[in-house]
Amino acid sequence: MAKKVKSPFVGIDLGGTKVLAAIVSPKGRVVARAKNLTPDREGPEAVIAVVTETVRQALQKAEVKPDEVAGIGIGTPGLVDASTGIVRYAPNLAGWDEVPLGPALHKALGRPVIVGNDVDVSTFGEYAVGAGAGCNSVVGIFPGTGIGGALILNGRLHTGMRGSASELGHIVLMADGPLCGCGRRGCAEALASRTALERDLRAAIRFGQETALRDLIDDSDDHIRSGVLAQAARMGDRLMLETLQRTGYYLGLLAGSIVNVIDPEMVIFGGGLIEACQEWLMPTIRNTARQYFINRLDIDRVKMETALLGDDAGVLGAAMLARSTFGEK
Ligand SMILES: [Zn+2]
Repeated sequence: MAKKVKSPFVGIDLGGTKVLAAIVSPKGRVVARAKNLTPDREGPEAVIAVVTETVRQALQKAEVKPDEVAGIGIGTPGLVDASTGIVRYAPNLAGWDEVPLGPALHKALGRPVIVGNDVDVSTFGEYAVGAGAGCNSVVGIFPGTGIGGALILNGRLHTGMRGSASELGHIVLMADGPLCGCGRRGCAEALASRTALERDLRAAIRFGQETALRDLIDDSDDHIRSGVLAQAARMGDRLMLETLQRTGYYLGLLAGSIVNVIDPEMVIFGGGLIEACQEWLMPTIRNTARQYFINRLDIDRVKMETALLGDDAGVLGAAMLARSTFGEK
């Protein structure tokens, strides 16, 4: 039998569709994991019960008793008050309004709990044991349905006075530009999210532009899969390449502006779109961002890299956030 891990941390990734829990060694090694579906329509109590059960399953697999756990971290969608562990609201989870997630898990599992926003927590994972390991200050940019953002400054997650910092997706890149999900115009999200990319592709197809995508996508799909986007790009499809070029350009503008504010060691780009299309997106992102750096000295020292942890970023980040909060200093 494998040697038993000492003083492990529990990392939980609470998503709109599934709950992942992992038992993680203090060095960031996943020892055991468990997964269940999120009962997202059944309200907070049902979700918290599933989270608790998922943690118990992971503990059992690792043969760890709850009182051996050094601390618990959880990443959740929505706006979080980290000091109280209360989720103020979460648009992806029905009925989540001022939910005391941290206190409820603490009561159920008997160990200290730290709660964070999911993008913050994933970026913290990349900072602690992923692409940003060894850095002090890191920015996370995750283009998806919107654009998630996170800031780690001098080794600490920066969440802001009201827990609402890092809304990087709503930095305005084009005054009076396309409509954003927030109701305003020209936000980064409205120009360079996955949603914006799909909007532009579908509009071009409607206008009759020649493209291999016509044969690759199914009209019944409400999403164009990342693999299909990459396939079209690999075929040299002009529409696809131009659209990726534009997405990379706006992500580069965004990164360049943020670098001018923060001067971090690394900007980490993650999510399914980046993962699938990084070979087309990342060179444009890097070139564009660098053109906008005000400080022209040592520009190669500012790294722009892709996330490394994939689906484990949430649980690892939550566990590492618990380590930095409750672990031995
Ligand atoms: Zn916006």
